Amino acid sequence: MANHPRTKKSLGQHFLKDTNMIRKIVDSIPAQKGDRIVEIGPGAGAITGLMHQVYDDVVAVEIDQRMVEHLAEEYPNLKIVHEDILKSDWSQFIIADKPVHVVGNLPYYITSQILFKVLEYRKHINSALLMMQKEVAERIMAEPRSKEYGILSVQTQLMSTPEILFDVPPDVFSPPPNVNSAVLKLTFEKPDLKCSDKNLKTVVRMAFNQRRKKLSNALKRLETELPEDEFDFNLRAEALTPDKYEKLTARLEQLGTFS
Ligand code: SAM
Repeated sequence: MANHPRTKKSLGQHFLKDTNMIRKIVDSIPAQKGDRIVEIGPGAGAITGLMHQVYDDVVAVEIDQRMVEHLAEEYPNLKIVHEDILKSDWSQFIIADKPVHVVGNLPYYITSQILFKVLEYRKHINSALLMMQKEVAERIMAEPRSKEYGILSVQTQLMSTPEILFDVPPDVFSPPPNVNSAVLKLTFEKPDLKCSDKNLKTVVRMAFNQRRKKLSNALKRLETELPEDEFDFNLRAEALTPDKYEKLTARLEQLGTFS
């Protein structure tokens, strides 16, 4: 890890420098030695180095050419993919019959987008261990009727089992970020949704984009007759549980709303 290239703020580069924290993160990965680990944003290799010792099959995806060169020198046997994780074809990370675990001290400027990518590929992923802003982790865990409850909470709770493992203070990073962080674990053992991901997203986004309005108003743009006998559309978006969003979307699908 020594003498790595200078960090770039624009790429969210806050590197872990605390060996106890690095060990704690790697110890929290719910994987076996032979499983595939996909690391998002290895940077100078703070977590990568230890994972490379513990696991046989680590793939590290990094956007910064300088870090890619540095990693290749430090870890000649490491599989490194020099790509933007949001533009990558994630099917290249998946191997049939091999458990896949995603790990990352995420670049915070794209936390939500990475999260939605992980959720999109959940059927091929066993777990994700992601360091993010504490505030985002709390939004993911939020309960209905709270101010943090929103799109991230509904989708993540429906598509995975999320758990905050521990908080992480700024001083274990170099340079320190100006927010607190948390490590979130997602496991993917839930049965298939009763509706399509795409339609669920449409309904949830529409509802929360006008979160102060009644659902009857917020969902007007669906241009459909809402099943008022089965759901209460006088409520606001934040009052519906994730489960209710799934049921509502499935019912709207049956009614032909999206065809
Ligand atoms: N894993 C290292 C650590 O813990 O010290 C670095 C973590 S740093 C918070 C985030 C890393 O993600 C940086 O190395 C950054 O270059 C990389 N990154 C930023 N945007 C990315 C993108 N779109 N695709 C892949 N990697 C990205």
